[in-house]
Amino acid sequence: MKGPAADPNAATSKAMQAVDPALRAVSHPGDLRLLERLEEDFAFSFQQLRLFAQWCVDCRAWEETEFHARVENWLVETGSEDDAAGAHGMNRRQRGEQIFQSMQRVYAGIASKAKAYPSVGTGEKLPKHAFVEKELKGRIFRLCPAASEKAVCCNLKVINVVDNCAMACSYCVLQNHYDEAVIAVPVNLREKLAEIRLVPEKRYRIGTGEYSDSLLWGNKNGILGDLCDFARAHSNIILEFKSKSANVAWILENDIPPNVCCSWSLNPPVIIANEEHKTASLDRRLEAARAAADKGVKVAFHFHPMFYYQGWEADYRALIARVTALFRPGEVLWISLGCITMLKGFARDFRLKYRHSKLLQMETEITEDGKITYAFAVREKLYRNALAALEPWKGKVFQYLCMEHKPMWDSVMGFAYPSMGAFDDAFNESAFSKLRIEVGDRGCEVNEKGDRG
Ligand code: SF4
Repeated sequence: MKGPAADPNAATSKAMQAVDPALRAVSHPGDLRLLERLEEDFAFSFQQLRLFAQWCVDCRAWEETEFHARVENWLVETGSEDDAAGAHGMNRRQRGEQIFQSMQRVYAGIASKAKAYPSVGTGEKLPKHAFVEKELKGRIFRLCPAASEKAVCCNLKVINVVDNCAMACSYCVLQNHYDEAVIAVPVNLREKLAEIRLVPEKRYRIGTGEYSDSLLWGNKNGILGDLCDFARAHSNIILEFKSKSANVAWILENDIPPNVCCSWSLNPPVIIANEEHKTASLDRRLEAARAAADKGVKVAFHFHPMFYYQGWEADYRALIARVTALFRPGEVLWISLGCITMLKGFARDFRLKYRHSKLLQMETEITEDGKITYAFAVREKLYRNALAALEPWKGKVFQYLCMEHKPMWDSVMGFAYPSMGAFDDAFNESAFSKLRIEVGDRGCEVNEKGDRG
């Protein structure tokens, strides 16, 4: 090997110049030395050097030692640049290409295998959070931010209430703000809600948990109270409070209109420990959901994002079996299934920020709308397994895929809604049929329709 140890801050060599400075800064010094050798002895191109640096960072984060062991072996086998060509009957560029392709195969194999999670979390250092008050401005009522014309989408509407979250799920786009972790809670929600104009003949499902957790902050600044009053005043909506917390104290202590639904995102305990930092445990989420349902509040569950890892099949089946044993179909308005979906920029930032996460260890594909997700075959396996476990609730609880495309719907559901409107109608038909809403002087009254399973 030539030259002294590489200085990560200096881009004096071609190898160092090839790598994004931010990635270089988090690279192991030994990997930077390897990079220089690959460039000097095997004429790796800029693109190859860039990818190699990324693979090294990933494999260290995933605690997968095989990649580095194999690279060392190839280099020992190959020897110095002088005998690289002769020993393999090719010039150093050709030998370099051969080594690069072997590396690519090994990396792809590691990325696509079911990852092994430790049973306890990795203890990433996470910032504290602080509250600030904010004045809501402009429109707070809009289409779900993840909705896409290219996906089969359900036409969920959302109300932007609190900005940011302190729970720090590794896969959450909001974590890009965590350096500051400033939670902005509105002071003028009631007046902004009064500006929302709904078509009285239309039915709406409206979420509040897209920019933060809906229940974590309780009734801070009166937000839950204002939202419940909004739901009470509009019998043509179902308002969803989506959460990974167990903070249902306010829900249990107050009068909740019948068209409010509390929903929980659920994952097996090992995923909660490793990827959903600071969230309530599965037991506590389910206890909170049970307490809400016991009070007569409708609930819903999101198995989203599902993960592919060692033990996924049994874990998701056990999780769903627990849910179907704990709740009656008449108490549950819907179930969604989905997989992790990331924007490309998110993956880059994530790699730089989280040094001990296996999140990016996945066989990926780019969706029609340009997002990174699991390969089709992996998602298909995850959905089929979950749907098999949900079979007892088929026809009793509305089940859907979130952020998925027609080929996946056709494959695992056996059909696909032809339009957002059709999906919306079917969804509303099912969800509202579990509420029999009569609007009178006292607002809404709901009686269960009897779908008790
Ligand atoms: S399917 Fe998912 S992404 Fe699409 S609108 Fe509904 S909740 Fe949003």
